Amino acid sequence: MRVLLLATTTGYQTRAFGEAAERLGVDLLFATDRCDMIEDPWGDHALAIRFYDEAASVETIVAAAERSPVDGVIAVGDRPTVIAARVMKALGLPGHPRSAAAVARNKQATREHFKAAGLLTPAFIEGTPTDDPEHFMPVGFPMVVKPLALSGSRGVMRVDDEGELTAALSRIKGLLASADIRAERHEAHKLLLAEQFIDGREFAVEGLMNRGSLDVLAIFDKPDPLDGPFFEETLYITPSQAPSGTQENIVRTVTEAANALGLYHGPVHAECRVNSRGVFVLEVAARPIGGLCARALRFVRRERPAGRTKPAAGSQSGAAGAEISFEELLLRHALGEGSTEWQREPKASGVMMIPIPRRGIYRGAEGIDEARAVPDVVDVRLTAKLDQVLVPLPEGASYLGFIFARANHAADVDRALRAAHGCLTFTIDPELRVLQSTHG
Ligand code: ADP
Ligand code: CA
Repeated sequence: MRVLLLATTTGYQTRAFGEAAERLGVDLLFATDRCDMIEDPWGDHALAIRFYDEAASVETIVAAAERSPVDGVIAVGDRPTVIAARVMKALGLPGHPRSAAAVARNKQATREHFKAAGLLTPAFIEGTPTDDPEHFMPVGFPMVVKPLALSGSRGVMRVDDEGELTAALSRIKGLLASADIRAERHEAHKLLLAEQFIDGREFAVEGLMNRGSLDVLAIFDKPDPLDGPFFEETLYITPSQAPSGTQENIVRTVTEAANALGLYHGPVHAECRVNSRGVFVLEVAARPIGGLCARALRFVRRERPAGRTKPAAGSQSGAAGAEISFEELLLRHALGEGSTEWQREPKASGVMMIPIPRRGIYRGAEGIDEARAVPDVVDVRLTAKLDQVLVPLPEGASYLGFIFARANHAADVDRALRAAHGCLTFTIDPELRVLQSTHG
């Protein structure tokens, strides 16, 4: 069996897929964007495609699949989801339709589909960063402005008055003009969306769709308030501590949202906000949770004693309880196995994405051993590179690293992640302004 993996970057997640494939005795074929292949880490084992050139990319992949058959396709990261959808259709594999993957990547199209399906939707107006602020004013304050097709909260800003709106528009203009975003050559990268600020608690939902039916694998609480002006993700903790009625509401609404976009088969990652008016879905992406965060999820075979499908939190998973990684579950699913055979492990689990506190040059971290020694902490991974320029949100696209914890109770995971973060100190030097000082 062979699975095609469409990935934006090489890194932890592609290695995790490699390990899972080896365990399963499955071959992997990688396809990645040629622009990201400077060091050719794949050797001969990757197809170099251009994510912005859908048709040519699909042709290259389909030709490769004719030489040596492909039995499943997985896209990781937002950019290759549409190409993956087209490839699956061409190969006769079940997947998300191309149109649904494309809508899921576009925040305006997503809003329109949610609204048409009768889901709770904030007022929204599309525009460009050079539009007069007046154009967006009917949305009202507080307002959130965001580029139409970026991810990871890049460029997402809350604005509370016209002055902040003007400043945010020019900030988005600068961001969309940056080299890495222009290199994607995506039409929607000229546009932005303004929408009403939705208050409330935020959740993330990880799921697998089985021919139109959503199987929720995990609901993550995001326990820190996310009120802006920027929306840095920090903590993801599962299982959710929300009341069961709220969780049922989340599952029902995310299912409706996935259906509204036309998503059909494969991974979905959704985010929503819940307040007294109900569940507002922010987005449903046609891909799994990204990068290292996937490590927070492990799965065991679902037990099926009569009348019960889920063991109580903290119970042992039994003799058949060998854990598999999320990547292994994704591979199995891509090869046709139903996801409902599996469920998340009984333990609570969480990850902290360590935010970049300020712009500067990264010189290192202290306290890593102490952080690792905090009870219930599973791992601390610092991913920032020494001497790299760190860029915080809203322009930045990375974290300092990740902390993982597992415990019997979600509250202990929360405590462990915060305690470990408290052990870490980061040295970030100011950038040298050589050009300014000699010419200015
Ligand atoms: P991205 O694709 O970059 O993740 P999102 O639309 O999901 O963009 O927004 C990122 C974060 O910004 C969300 O997780 C949420 O915390 C916040 N956010 C986005 N839109 C709104 C909104 N209308 N009201 C309140 N918060 C929002
Ligand atoms: Ca998001």
